[in-house]
Amino acid sequence: MNMVSLWRYPPQPELIETNTGLPSPKYFQLHPFFIWKPEHSIMERLRNNYILPCLYRCQNPNVVSSGVGRPRVILGITGQFYILASRLCCKACKRYWFADKPQWLDILPQRFRNILPAFLTHKKAICKTVMDELRRSGKSPNDMANQLSEVLHLKFERAHLAYLLSVQNVRDAEAGLYGQKTITGALRKDDTPAPFGDYGDTDGWNGVYVSAHYLIECLLHEYQRQEAALTQLLQGTFGQVFRSDHTRKVARKVTLLSGTMSSYAVMNENWMILFWVMLQSESEQSLESMYCGLSNRYSVAGIPKAKYQWVDRDCCAAFRVMDPGPYEHQQWEAWRTTEATVAEVTSGNLKNLHAACRKFNEDMVVKLDLFHCMRRFTRECVSEHHPLYGSFCQFLSSAFSVVDQGDLEKLKNAYRFCGIEPSNPTKLHIREHCRTKVPHPRELVQWVEEVLHHFYLAKDPNNIFLFKPSMLKLWWIQRIHILRGCLSDPEVEEGILYRYGGTLQLNHVKGDGAAVPIWIPVRGTSQQEGFHFHQAQWVTGNRVSPELFQAQGMTGVARWNYQRLVDLKQPGVVLPGVFDPVLMRVKQGIYKCDRATQISSLAHLQQGHRREVWPAICGARLSTCAS
Ligand SMILES: [Zn+2]
Ligand SMILES: [Zn+2]
Repeated sequence: MNMVSLWRYPPQPELIETNTGLPSPKYFQLHPFFIWKPEHSIMERLRNNYILPCLYRCQNPNVVSSGVGRPRVILGITGQFYILASRLCCKACKRYWFADKPQWLDILPQRFRNILPAFLTHKKAICKTVMDELRRSGKSPNDMANQLSEVLHLKFERAHLAYLLSVQNVRDAEAGLYGQKTITGALRKDDTPAPFGDYGDTDGWNGVYVSAHYLIECLLHEYQRQEAALTQLLQGTFGQVFRSDHTRKVARKVTLLSGTMSSYAVMNENWMILFWVMLQSESEQSLESMYCGLSNRYSVAGIPKAKYQWVDRDCCAAFRVMDPGPYEHQQWEAWRTTEATVAEVTSGNLKNLHAACRKFNEDMVVKLDLFHCMRRFTRECVSEHHPLYGSFCQFLSSAFSVVDQGDLEKLKNAYRFCGIEPSNPTKLHIREHCRTKVPHPRELVQWVEEVLHHFYLAKDPNNIFLFKPSMLKLWWIQRIHILRGCLSDPEVEEGILYRYGGTLQLNHVKGDGAAVPIWIPVRGTSQQEGFHFHQAQWVTGNRVSPELFQAQGMTGVARWNYQRLVDLKQPGVVLPGVFDPVLMRVKQGIYKCDRATQISSLAHLQQGHRREVWPAICGARLSTCAS
């Protein structure tokens, strides 16, 4: 096979024979060329019988070469190269253009654009490798500009070194270092090596500088290319359980021109993001349109709506709590829950006004997230370093969650089967193999109250109370949530609170008796916290335009969701190895259109080969939208 390629590489300067002269610096810092001549015979196979179109769309185009254009410099991850495009002429309408003109590239079949190593716009050109790296790393344009600049300068410095070594090599041979002296030095008139020049010399190397601004433009352009596919993926994300929370992490880091305060995200049971917005006010009204849209998303797809939502605030109807008197917190009477208290807080209009209930699903069961509630308690301690802080947290956490006795009994049986005596499961085993539940309101109030009773007057050796006086008011507030059932776990089917993660043989002992189930908690804030951490990472730099913020945020969210699916390792679900929505969508389109490819992909499937099913499961509507 002939080695046909559109790439042209520069010579290796060290290998060029110099005869009598010292090496010339002009060969040492040269870059590859990519020849772009769609009209040329080198691209005959790609063209096939296709007739190149005229940029001006005339009826019977006759596109021929009309010389070469100016090389465009392209920045890649490993350095720069040039695209050398031909100048084209349509003989039918007598008009001219360059073969790398984006408007013309856009009318060419996909196979042409796909072999171009860069994305071209009317002003900018960026190598696909740079966009891949930006998308993969989520780096800020500033960091990326620094990285590219370093690569370019390192290449230059190495080329300079290569030149110096080549000169030295000639001199060493002439000095007889390798035995016999060469006589080339004697033949040379001028013995001074030519200066190598500086990186920025405009009449010399004219090294490229890359600015963050340039990369931002490229990134925005790439986002425009990806936007439809990203939106489709997000709109194809559903869930049966929601968890939502507010965070100021992003807003603290980034100054948005719009002056937004906090970010609000809704996740599903697999921690995939359904939507994420930046809020200017934390009032519920601002969320209405988002939940309307979400409701629409479910209706259009014909998917049953989520029934449960764990929130970080606004879990039930609003209420007011009086301020306690100055020393009230020192009298147990003030903490105690009476029947009158219970009656008072659980009567009247308890209708929840959460935006999700009003605009998404009026039967939505809204629950206050346990960890957010616990954090409210621990914040009312004087300090994390108070000696009693640790045991208070422990007591509180065991009051809020009870271990499923059936699961515990099963685990104990497995202990006995394996001959472990006494059969008291370790904390770690309980966490992995037993489900826990937040108890019913009356039970829960009693248990938390017992913990508070234990600690409400507790002091350290320096007579410092563990609780701030404000703990009493906090208890009055949280007690209402507890009594209204905002915290108690609903009776639900599997997959809402816990996901079954298969079984494990305890201590690697064989036999059914040693098999214990693995329960993966669906609730929990670690993934939520993880998301907030990532959110802040996607948006790098502390001043961004709304456009860039949108681009980085959308890409980040879609990528996050993709990673959740990878982590889930659902049986039968095969995901593409890389995250590039447009690439996937185009590939899917080809599979769908071409019967022969369909059949071969089916054959592949039957032979147990991989198939991309991400769009199929994540974007439930993807196939219908794309067709
Ligand atoms: Zn024409
Ligand atoms: Zn509540």
